[in-house]
Amino acid sequence: MTFDSLKTHKGSCHCGAIQWECIGPSEIDAIICNCSICNKKQNHHFIVSSKNFKLLKGEENLTTYSFNTGNAKHKFCKICGVQSFYIPRSNPDSIGKFLFIIKL
Ligand SMILES: [Zn+2]
Repeated sequence: MTFDSLKTHKGSCHCGAIQWECIGPSEIDAIICNCSICNKKQNHHFIVSSKNFKLLKGEENLTTYSFNTGNAKHKFCKICGVQSFYIPRSNPDSIGKFLFIIKL
């Protein structure tokens, strides 16, 4: 990946209480995970390093769901219930985001 292929993506939950931005590839290949929870949520996402993720607004409105090993941290908006990002089990130093909520 070259520097020219990176861009800032912005995203939020449905109500806008949670807002974030990240630096990621300008052209995204979505990951369609088939684990138990991602299958239920139809989780289409991409992963960026946590150093490239910044929560802009809404820390106080986030709640976390974990199960099994507890390594994955599924972050939900307390107001609208939408999960716009999470910390995946497979990449505990990264943040996985749902493509469908990213506002470009
Ligand atoms: Zn919300």
